[in-house]
Amino acid sequence: MIVPAATSPGEIVVNGMSMSRRDSKFANSGIVTAIDEEDLIDYQSHGAFAGLEFQKELERKFFDSGDGSQKAPAQRMTDFVTGKLSSSLGESSYIPGMYSSMLNNLLPEKISERIGLAIVQFGKKMKGYFTEEGYLIGLESRTSSPVRIPRDKETFEHVQIRGLYPCGEGAGYAGGIISAALDGQNAAKAVIKKNK
Ligand SMILES: Cc1cc2nc3c(=O)[nH]c(=O)nc-3n(C[C@H](O)[C@H](O)[C@H](O)COP(=O)(O)OP(=O)(O)OC[C@H]3O[C@@H](n4cnc5c(N)ncnc54)[C@H](O)[C@@H]3O)c2cc1C
Repeated sequence: MIVPAATSPGEIVVNGMSMSRRDSKFANSGIVTAIDEEDLIDYQSHGAFAGLEFQKELERKFFDSGDGSQKAPAQRMTDFVTGKLSSSLGESSYIPGMYSSMLNNLLPEKISERIGLAIVQFGKKMKGYFTEEGYLIGLESRTSSPVRIPRDKETFEHVQIRGLYPCGEGAGYAGGIISAALDGQNAAKAVIKKNK
């Protein structure tokens, strides 16, 4: 299921989850792209929070393009790649509903381009993936944290604060269940090593 995951008014954030029986007729996957420093050039005045500001601005933009509800902008996958507004939308698992929108214009150009190229590549590798029956519904903007708390590569300890071990998603070292779990495990091992 695609679920609303906003944490404040005035923003659209979606995420994906499965019910334990995993018997829904819908499939979903988050499609994300890396954000490089060059994507954040216009946000440099926010210093360490440049990524956070970029994220907030996009979430607000997605909200402002709608009717003030949690309805999410959506586009058929094929229309996204060709840069066309979808003339109709079918069903989805997203309960608040969706409306047809040019995600290409809501997203920064470089991000649209990367996602569009990736979708076409996925389609070549997985038969049936790239189809007009698939929708892009946005915005899944809460993957890895847009800020990173600095830590020593070897000891995992904060570079200035002794005894503090930044780890997992919130500290900027993971973006999902497995990477967060492994990072947590490595941090725990580092704490044990130091205290032995
Ligand atoms: C709806 C949804 C669907 C997702 N689906 C997937 C998926 O399909 N696949 C995938 O890989 N990932 C998915 N994720 C992401 C995944 O859940 C996270 O990447 C992962 O849980 C991060 O783990 P973490 O331990 O770093 O942080 P968290 O799991 O967020 O743990 C942080 C903990 O710190 C606690 N905490 C916060 N502040 C304080 C404080 N001041 N004092 C004490 N405790 C505090 C919180 O209560 C929380 O328990 C999904 C996330 C959401 C929200």
